[in-house]
Amino acid sequence: MCQRAIYPGSFDPLTYGHIDLIKRAQDIFSEVIVAVAHNPHKKPLFSVKERVEMLKKATADLKGIVIDEFDSLVVDYARKQKARVIIRGLRMISDFEYEFQMALTNRRLNPHIETIFLMPPESYSYLSSKLLKEAASLGADLSSFVPEFVEKALKKKLRKVL
Ligand code: ADP
Repeated sequence: MCQRAIYPGSFDPLTYGHIDLIKRAQDIFSEVIVAVAHNPHKKPLFSVKERVEMLKKATADLKGIVIDEFDSLVVDYARKQKARVIIRGLRMISDFEYEFQMALTNRRLNPHIETIFLMPPESYSYLSSKLLKEAASLGADLSSFVPEFVEKALKKKLRKVL
């Protein structure tokens, strides 16, 4: 029944944790729409276009993955895409409260759409885009956290910003 799922997020920038989740979702659903949120209040480092391009490049070899962007309520976007499932990731207990609140709010907004949580392997369970940006600004080697082209883009962007 649930052929199509959406995986919304900031992906600022995408990490191997996000890619792991995309692959897990791909195993379950015939189509997964990875949707970059327009969330200017979060002051993203990368533009929506840059984040979309990075996701397209990282998933080019994967079947059934569509990359898109949205600037509406996630449940409205899901309805428009005829998707009944929202995929989110749970890394640690610390994700739980926020994700739980958001899932229940979304259910109240549209009871026909379910949020499904997937978990990355332990090795990515501490990985976050926010932490990566901090580590990158201090010159850390990010090769085990993000694809090489993301690391390059991150370092280039931070050189401009700092
Ligand atoms: P958002 O601003 O929507 O939280 P993120 O890009 O940080 O955007 O995360 C999108 C989703 O991916 C969230 O559900 C988050 O928990 C999940 N996620 C982020 N990093 C990882 C990771 N390392 N492993 C698994 N899930 C992750």
